[in-house]
Amino acid sequence: MDTPQVIVVGGGLAGCECAWQLAERGVVVQIREMKPLRRTPAQSSDALAELVCSNSFRSDNPLNAIGLLHEELRALGSLVLRLADRHRVPAGDALAVDRDLFSADVERHVRQHPMITVVAGEVTALPLALGVPVVVATGPLTSDALAAQLVAVTGQERLAFYDAIAPIVAAESIAMPQVFAASRWGKGDGDDYLNCPMDKAQYLAFVEAVVAAETLPLQDFELGVRYFPGCQPIEVVAQSGPKSLRFGPMKPTGLDDPRTGRWPYAVVQLRAENRHKTAYNLVGFQTKMRQAEQRRVLGMIPGLGEAEFLRYGSVHRNTFLDSPRLLDDAMRLRSLPQLRFAGQITGVEGYIESTASGWWTALALDAELRGVALAPPPADTALGALVRHVVDTTVPQFQPSNLHFGLFEPLDDARDPQTGKKRDKPARKQAMCDRARASLRQWHVATGRTPACG
Ligand SMILES: Cc1cc2nc3c(=O)[nH]c(=O)nc-3n(C[C@H](O)[C@H](O)[C@H](O)COP(=O)(O)OP(=O)(O)OC[C@H]3O[C@@H](n4cnc5c(N)ncnc54)[C@H](O)[C@@H]3O)c2cc1C
Repeated sequence: MDTPQVIVVGGGLAGCECAWQLAERGVVVQIREMKPLRRTPAQSSDALAELVCSNSFRSDNPLNAIGLLHEELRALGSLVLRLADRHRVPAGDALAVDRDLFSADVERHVRQHPMITVVAGEVTALPLALGVPVVVATGPLTSDALAAQLVAVTGQERLAFYDAIAPIVAAESIAMPQVFAASRWGKGDGDDYLNCPMDKAQYLAFVEAVVAAETLPLQDFELGVRYFPGCQPIEVVAQSGPKSLRFGPMKPTGLDDPRTGRWPYAVVQLRAENRHKTAYNLVGFQTKMRQAEQRRVLGMIPGLGEAEFLRYGSVHRNTFLDSPRLLDDAMRLRSLPQLRFAGQITGVEGYIESTASGWWTALALDAELRGVALAPPPADTALGALVRHVVDTTVPQFQPSNLHFGLFEPLDDARDPQTGKKRDKPARKQAMCDRARASLRQWHVATGRTPACG
């Protein structure tokens, strides 16, 4: 085997997809994977492309953002998707797989590819000496030594080790008459937040429900985690005393309710998640409550009784970069372009999103090696929405995210051009999916290659 033209660190979903796509385009790739010599605390097998928890790639429904991403990756020739389809097990409209057969097949494909070698061993120093591009795809549990190296090149405050994710709800599902727009003390434009006001009785009932809610158990390696103040799950805050939320994320000071002219007893603030204001996050509401509990308990918040959750809250161990501040849209580190990233470490979240990220990093790198310009996929496609999320500098505090429709470019027209009527939810999803399909086809043709299956 020749000297590698690219080194990929990490043989997970992103690393395998990335290496495969490069190899299929004639690039000599070396994968450096610390298994079987060392495992992360979440891993239980020595296989490449291990699914560490669920065996599901989530919804395969073509009217779901994740189902659409599946469809795009199939059309774009993803190895992971092809083998996931091959090892599919019955799971309703989800794409679930036999995890052992799936991982073994990915590993076989990767190891047997004539352009790929796999070298076992933990990478503790960034392998920059060969002068070839290095793709870091070491995932949410990147080993400590490598993480320390990354801190050295990115800066301490640009690499996080835990995420504290607040839920996001669809704007159209918020009962607007129950909330009011205002910023604390009238700052900013004066109406930057949507505020869900509570009286004392509502607040006390809410706190009681939060404290009693069922939460997800901590993983072994999360035991003993001390949360930073400001990143604590709301149930941890609520347990410290009945007034704690009211003096924390539910503080009402400086928020005049125009209907009463006074500050409410407590407030949940919703902040726009994107410039189009199609999605809002619940400010400071990171939580480890189970998803059903989030729907039930957070549904007690005025205005959110019928809320559609685009993303649920979570708090877990996760190594990720402040990508909008660090990476360009080819996933290169701006300050050191020899280094680039793929997978969950870039701030995507989930098996399929990490796979998609690996695919895109490979395509962008291959284009660069061939001296060809390649724009990222448009933000009205699932893949493009994911890439934009990672590099969107308009979001002040970057947090990892699954793919959801709130990350897509919104539709230009809320009305159906044929009937002139306002589209209902299924019609909007259908319109977004139709637009994504057309847009991906156009982009892919513009890249000079025709989609593998379309
Ligand atoms: C506990 C846990 C449960 C999860 N459950 C789910 C779930 O149910 N569904 C879902 O969609 N997503 C889940 N995720 C998220 C999931 O990890 C990612 O979506 C996905 O595995 C990330 O893919 P990746 O390729 O970026 O990283 P990984 O799949 O983690 O791959 C990274 C690889 O890099 C290797 N590596 C790390 N450091 C080094 C080093 N220094 N040198 C060499 N190799 C190294 C690791 O051994 C690993 O093989 C979970 C994450 C965790 C931590």
